[in-house]
Amino acid sequence: MNYKIGLIRGDGIGPEIVNEAKKVLDRICEKYGHSFEYEDILMGGCSIDVHGVPLTDGAIEAAKGSDAVLMGSIGGNTSTSPWYKLPPDKRPEAGLLGIRKALGLFANLRPSKLYKELSSACPLRKETADKGFDMLIMRELTGGLYFGDRYTKDVNGVRTAVDTLSYNEDEIRRIAVKAFEVAKKRRKKVTSIDKANVLDSSRLWRAVTEEVSKDYPDIALEHMLVDNAAMQLVKDPGQFDVILTENMFGDILSDEAAEITGSIGMLPSASLNETKFGLYEPSGGSAPDIAGKNIANPIATILSAAMMLRFSFDLTEEADRIDNAVQAVLSKGIRTGDIWSEGLRRVSTSEMGDAVCDEI
Ligand code: NAD
Repeated sequence: MNYKIGLIRGDGIGPEIVNEAKKVLDRICEKYGHSFEYEDILMGGCSIDVHGVPLTDGAIEAAKGSDAVLMGSIGGNTSTSPWYKLPPDKRPEAGLLGIRKALGLFANLRPSKLYKELSSACPLRKETADKGFDMLIMRELTGGLYFGDRYTKDVNGVRTAVDTLSYNEDEIRRIAVKAFEVAKKRRKKVTSIDKANVLDSSRLWRAVTEEVSKDYPDIALEHMLVDNAAMQLVKDPGQFDVILTENMFGDILSDEAAEITGSIGMLPSASLNETKFGLYEPSGGSAPDIAGKNIANPIATILSAAMMLRFSFDLTEEADRIDNAVQAVLSKGIRTGDIWSEGLRRVSTSEMGDAVCDEI
């Protein structure tokens, strides 16, 4: 298969971790006879340095002309970098918001998996951690409270702030379809999280999700209230496969789900639009404190590349091969500094990339 991949290396550790993911993709091409063509796209601080803005029209066009985009991370040290003396809409992060909007990326996927080998980093009770978990949070990214009308005004001498939470059935349906489609490739269960005992938007969410589920008779659908979900995530995370939820609930729950793995450097993510196109990136940031030292953990980016193969290119076997290679590397006790502990083999960023390639 031939695919064109946009590469946003970005800032900080971004170029280092993207290099390793590209190395792994090249290895997959060798093994399976695929051909991936890459186009470098400048975004974030590196684009400010060259063009004076974090995202140019040319960068958006290059992303649109790709089958998928793989990204490292963007941004610098927010206290010392000159990028943060610029107004908010000219800072590196504005590039990320801009590209998500330009590409219509409304579905955010964040897997949260506890590897047996890393279970000692899990902050949950040992009995819970020992059972393991492997879930994926599907968060609506472009609607809800963060995008509704908001204002603060004086009402009879009292300062009053208003935010509005609104969803229409089309916005709910398209993200629900994504969740059921993803569940088909996993353990075939969707837990839809809402606050239907209070909110109208949640009652519509529940009704539309039920309607969509009729087209997926093989997928089990359950509903859960968000307060209960926050508790269940720490009590029994193994019960979840795909979690489907709206923007703000997903924002909060996906961080909780990331934290219980104890190792954010291992977590990939994807943002998708209505087509097969997606933007794939690690969940962590640009880690300016360790940039340029060849010590960052590239696994989240490597797993993001695997998600790209799975969700944008339908290359399931190849994606499984990368996931299994990462698992094998961990089983051999090979670790970058952030997940290293006494008695294990500590490796650099590039050695970790090589180790994953060797397992492929
Ligand atoms: P961060 O995730 O960059 O770093 C937090 C801590 O985790 C640091 O100690 C860092 O060294 C460590 N860390 C992160 N990724 C790692 C990896 N792959 N391997 C080993 N250690 C890793 O968060 P921060 O310090 O709050 O933010 C730094 C910059 O990143 C800021 O400019 C922020 O805006 C940006 N950021 C970008 C994205 C993105 O590009 N999507 C996301 C979050 C933060």
